[in-house]
This record gives sequence, C-alpha cells and structure tokens, in this order.
Amino acid sequence: MSIEVTDLPSDPKCDFCSQRPVVMYYPADDYMFVAVSEERVIEQPSEGGWTACRLCSVLVDAEDYPTLAWRAVEYQGGMPEDTALGRMVRDFMLAWFEGFRDHRRGAGVKLP
Ligand SMILES: [Zn+2]
Repeated sequence: MSIEVTDLPSDPKCDFCSQRPVVMYYPADDYMFVAVSEERVIEQPSEGGWTACRLCSVLVDAEDYPTLAWRAVEYQGGMPEDTALGRMVRDFMLAWFEGFRDHRRGAGVKLP
C-alpha cells in the first residue's frame, strides 16, 4: 500500500510548533475542531495530513501530546508557560492535537 503525501506547500512548517524543516508526514482524515468557551465558539478545520519537525515527530511517535502542546505554546505563542494565558493556550493546543490523534491514519511517512 502506498501513502500519498499531497498538497504540501513548497517550504512546509511543522503543524505542531511551526518550525522548519519538517521530516515526517502523518496521514489524517479531515475534521472540524470545535472549542467552546464562555465567550465564544472556535471552529477550525483540519485538512489532510500533518507535517512534523524532528523533535515533534519524536513526541508524536511517543504520543506525548501534553509536551507537544507546551512546545506549541512556546514556539507559536511566544508566551511564558506559567501564566493563565499560557495554560489556556496550552489546553487549546492539546485539544487541537487530540483531534489530530483521533483522526490519524496509521504510521508517519518519512519526508525526503
Ligand atoms: Zn515541530
């Protein structure tokens, strides 16, 4: 069985932490992520597979989503971990990544 790696941008970023370069591609089904808070409802579609940098791919393979979420807060948000806002963003990223976990299709594919 061959796995298609489709629709990657020419210089893809890690879908977890936004760093480059990426080394792995994880096939996944499309899904709609919905987060509900007191103030609002956030809907974020995920289309196709996810790419990961070397460090994130180690965490994905270990299914260490809490550490992936902290890494995302650090690199994407650039905010200190130990604040109410940092923890809120961490919880959001963790829920988003758990959506990926639930829609993943099989093992990762090494990228050239
Ligand atoms: Zn990464």
